[in-house]
Amino acid sequence: MKQSDWDVIIVGAGPTGGRAATHLASLGHSVLMLEEHSEIGRPFQCAGLVTPKALHEVGLYDSVLEEIDGARIHGPGGNLVPVGTDGKLRTYVVCRKKFDQGVVQQAMEAGASLWLNSQPRSAETTPEGVTLEIESNGEEIQLKCKLLIGCDGAHSWTRRYFKMGRPKEMMIGFQAEVLGYKGTDRWLDMYSGSEIAPGFFAWVIPSGFGSHRIGIWSTPERLNGQSVEQCYDDLLQHPLWKDRFKDIKEIARFCGPIPSGMVKKTVGNRIMLLGDAAGMAKPTTGGGIGPGFKQIKGILQPLSNAITADELSEKNLKRITSKHFQSMKKDQDKARMLRNLLVSDVEDKELDKHFENFARPDVLELINEIGDIEKPVPLGLALLKKVPAFRKLALKAGTRLLFR
Ligand SMILES: Cc1cc2nc3c(=O)[nH]c(=O)nc-3n(C[C@H](O)[C@H](O)[C@H](O)COP(=O)(O)OP(=O)(O)OC[C@H]3O[C@@H](n4cnc5c(N)ncnc54)[C@H](O)[C@@H]3O)c2cc1C
Repeated sequence: MKQSDWDVIIVGAGPTGGRAATHLASLGHSVLMLEEHSEIGRPFQCAGLVTPKALHEVGLYDSVLEEIDGARIHGPGGNLVPVGTDGKLRTYVVCRKKFDQGVVQQAMEAGASLWLNSQPRSAETTPEGVTLEIESNGEEIQLKCKLLIGCDGAHSWTRRYFKMGRPKEMMIGFQAEVLGYKGTDRWLDMYSGSEIAPGFFAWVIPSGFGSHRIGIWSTPERLNGQSVEQCYDDLLQHPLWKDRFKDIKEIARFCGPIPSGMVKKTVGNRIMLLGDAAGMAKPTTGGGIGPGFKQIKGILQPLSNAITADELSEKNLKRITSKHFQSMKKDQDKARMLRNLLVSDVEDKELDKHFENFARPDVLELINEIGDIEKPVPLGLALLKKVPAFRKLALKAGTRLLFR
């Protein structure tokens, strides 16, 4: 018979939900994951880049499709800035289905339960606990828990139901899986320019067995009525790059949101948001797996103590989370500001000038030395401080705000 009382119920069994469940179940709490789909890791909406830190944390090496040593970044006018070194691994490309399934399996091995085809319909929080009405395989069930965690992605039901705000930015991502792209082994390509990905960039990532993932991301305001699919077509037809795409054969297409900018209210009475639900994706790359892992890891022990003591009021959850979450938010805000300054709020002509500067040997050396997908802020700040051409940008942004 299904157990109806739990310490923690997690809505959403994606990577963040699976990781949170693993940690909490390992600490002895009874944990239930609710997943609306009939399988884990579908639908697939991801380029599959996972940083070494996040991959080492879960050890899911059998999900790796490719290892990546660097990125060949192209300016709107064709300037090439290669970031990386042959033979020095920078990031992994994973099969998201295998990766997500592996993360959720670890949670189950740690003692957490998983109900597929299950989603909440309503919830009520009281000083005694959370009562959740769910639909599970067509059946209505009432569940109770001490703590409800929303790990239910970009359009989080939990976030909407408890009116916890909205992520600052909601980017739109589009991706096609193709065969026949002419790239460089172990390197990904990035293309910029207002026709291709206004304010952002397009990516081409090797994804194993001769296939590549071609993706675009931008914000609705910057797209200005254009669709991301149109940007994709513009990339394939771009006079500078079309030769690289002329023999491609598309095998699949995906589209999805990327929420970036931590929501104002990440906790309520007995409620918490993690991962995409909380708007944790990085403003510079759209990566959300690493931040989701980091968010839960940084509050684990005090959260576990609070679950044991059943002290899960909003005030207490704020006390537990605020230092760690606020420091992540501050990094996110800085990264967004630097991204806007150097790339997103810049016309193509100016961006080309930036690329001329990025491509200078001394600047390239700096980028390769400090550049880290995981931590873009130190690099951005170093560029503003050390490269004279970028100093006036720092002044424009208000140095105090950036360097505090
Ligand atoms: C095109 C594109 C490319 C991307 N590329 C990368 C990349 O290369 N690297 C990277 O790190 N990130 C990338 N991202 C972002 C990444 O996919 C997310 O940040 C990451 O999946 C967030 O994990 P999560 O567990 O928080 O949310 P999700 O992965 O969205 O998982 C949420 C889970 O909750 C379930 N769910 C939702 N609502 C309910 C409900 N009401 N009831 C029950 N279950 C529910 C969903 O089915 C899902 O399983 C990309 C995103 C897009 C759109």
